[in-house]
Amino acid sequence: MISPNHMASMPVSSVVVLSGAGISAESGVGTFRDNGGLWENHRIEDVATPTAWQKNPELVWNFYQTRRRQLLEVEPNLAHIALSKLEDDVKEFTLITQNVDDLHERGGSTNVFHMHGRLRTLRCEISQKHEERMKKDDLGDDFLLCNCCVEPNRLRPDIVWFGEMPMHLEEIYEAVENCDYFIVIGSSGHVYPAAGLVNIANSCGAKTILVNFDSPANASEFDEIHLGKAGKILPNLVNDWLN
Ligand code: NAD
Repeated sequence: MISPNHMASMPVSSVVVLSGAGISAESGVGTFRDNGGLWENHRIEDVATPTAWQKNPELVWNFYQTRRRQLLEVEPNLAHIALSKLEDDVKEFTLITQNVDDLHERGGSTNVFHMHGRLRTLRCEISQKHEERMKKDDLGDDFLLCNCCVEPNRLRPDIVWFGEMPMHLEEIYEAVENCDYFIVIGSSGHVYPAAGLVNIANSCGAKTILVNFDSPANASEFDEIHLGKAGKILPNLVNDWLN
C-alpha cells in the first residue's frame, strides 16, 4: 500500500469514483469474476446478453427477478456509507457504478450514474421507456407489461447486457476527463468501457487510486493501490483523504 500523503487537498478537488461488483460483495451480493466467471451459478452468456433474452426469456427473466427480490434482503455496507461521506465533503463528486443494485443510493449517495442499468426499473421492449417496478406484485415469476403503451407490451430487465451500449457515457467521459482524483473500488478491470476509464483519467492528469480485494487486470494503470476488503479499508482511507 502506498501512503496517501498527497490527499491533503481532496476536499477542494473534483473526485470521480467508479465502483464494481466488489463493493457490494460484503453486503451479500455475489460478484461475477470471483466465482469462476459465473454470476450466481449462471454463465454470463446465458443470462446477460440480448441473444439469451431472445432464446430463453423465461430463464433470463427468472434470473433478474431473483436479483430484484434479493435487493429487499441486502443492506449497504461500510464502503457504500464511506462514499456518501466523501460525496458530502469534497467540492465536486461523481459516482459511476457498474452495479445494478441500489446499495449506493441506500448508503446515502445521490446522483449515481448506473452505466450498466438498474434492477429497480424495467424497460418497455417497444418504447424503451423505464419504469420503477418494485411492488410485491412486480417481483413474481410472471412476465410484466408496461404502463406506457396503449396496448401494453412486455417489459425487459433494465440492464445493459454484454454487446449493448452502456448508459450515461457522455456525462461519464466529461466527469472523468475533468477530475483531479479517479478512484476505482471493487472492479476486476475486465469489462469495457468501464475498465478503460482509468486510462482516460491518467491521460488527463488525474491521480488514479484503486481499492480492490485482489490485483485486477488493469492494476498497472493506477498510481496508488490498496488491496483488501472495501468495507474494511475504505472508511479509513476516506477519513485520511478528508483530514
Ligand atoms: P467483477 O465481478 O468482474 O469483479 C469484482 C472485483 O471485486 C474482483 O476483482 C474482486 O477481487 C473484487 N472484490 C471482491 N470482493 C471485494 C471486497 N469485499 N472489496 C473490494 N473488492 C472486492 O465485477 P465488475 O468489474 O463490476 O464486473 C462485473 C459485471 O457484472 C458488471 O458489469 C456488473 O454490471 C455485473 N454485476 C453486478 C453486480 C451488482 O450490481 N452488485 C454483481 C455482479 C455482477
